[in-house]
Amino acid sequence: MYCPCCLNPRIVDYPNNQKASDFFCEKCKNDFQLKSSKKPFGKKVVDGEFNTMVSVIKKGDSPNFFILQYSLEDWRVKSLLMIPKFFVILSMLEKRNPLSINARRSGWTGCNFLLDKLPNEGKIPIIKDEKILEKKVINKTWRKMFFLANKKPELRGWTSDVLKIVQEQDKEFKLKDIYKYENYFRELHPTNNNIQAKIRQQLQILRDNKIIKFKERGIYEVLE
Ligand SMILES: [Zn+2]
Repeated sequence: MYCPCCLNPRIVDYPNNQKASDFFCEKCKNDFQLKSSKKPFGKKVVDGEFNTMVSVIKKGDSPNFFILQYSLEDWRVKSLLMIPKFFVILSMLEKRNPLSINARRSGWTGCNFLLDKLPNEGKIPIIKDEKILEKKVINKTWRKMFFLANKKPELRGWTSDVLKIVQEQDKEFKLKDIYKYENYFRELHPTNNNIQAKIRQQLQILRDNKIIKFKERGIYEVLE
């Protein structure tokens, strides 16, 4: 596997489970963790322990994730997508029920990744229906959103959440279209008291990074 972040032709595996991650790139030092399944993933991907993941996200320590689906019938990779590390955010984490009292690890609480909480750039297809997609396009998407890596984890989550909703609108959309999702954002960020101001701040960040542009007062357009 090549490195989607810098196009180094090969990533290597960590020796003897040294770290939480499975692979790393010797050139750009990115870490990758692999989740694989023979079943299609759908909207949810099962991850590890909930509180561990919360603290990893809050510290901004997450690796990139590879989500891979394979077939045991023909031994082929059916699909592979990457969640860039800066899109691993609290909004996409779902707490699962603790294991029952009879379980060996009673009380242990796992989590799911909710892929439908992420914008398109947060789940970059690398192999789709057994077809290998173009490396350069994948790397371009990574670089387009790399500005998020330099933001605090909390703020980065907001940018991703707003971008997700922006992508559900028409190419041209109004500020008030996004304000309609105030309750949605409040559920994701219950401690924030000024959701509308936060939305405006995030649209500004998306504009500064050429994801959208301001057309006129209260009207925006998504850039290609
Ligand atoms: Zn690399």
